[in-house]
Amino acid sequence: MLLEGIGDTMRVSLTGDPVEEVHLAKEILNAVGIRKKGINFISCPTCGRTRVDLINITDDIEDRLKPLQQRWEKEKLRPITVAIMGCEVNGPGEAKEADLGVAFGSKKGLIFEKGNVIKNCPSSEIVDEIIKLILKKADEG
Ligand code: SF4
Repeated sequence: MLLEGIGDTMRVSLTGDPVEEVHLAKEILNAVGIRKKGINFISCPTCGRTRVDLINITDDIEDRLKPLQQRWEKEKLRPITVAIMGCEVNGPGEAKEADLGVAFGSKKGLIFEKGNVIKNCPSSEIVDEIIKLILKKADEG
């Protein structure tokens, strides 16, 4: 319906803090390409191939992105997409499509920038690396 242009408002209902309803509505609009603002964060749904604790990893990244999202909006920085994928089988395909992407392996993971591998580093260091790269993007505007 959103892609057909039907409707002018969105209402999201969650059990929990109502502020999260606004964040989720923004994420939905970002994901379908209607609202291209800030950092569009996507992660895979996980499956039997997932090589890491992706739920904890994405929670950690999302927490660290909150102040950065505010910076993106305040400074009107160019929107970027960050994709975090849980395996090296199908993960690289989606990670390559993003401005910054990760495909996790069990011990190491690949970091992509605009479709190219820029780092192959221990999985335990990837969250810090991706946050550093997002900060670099912010400094570049
Ligand atoms: S990217 Fe890999 S781990 Fe994630 S859902 Fe797809 S196959 Fe599973």
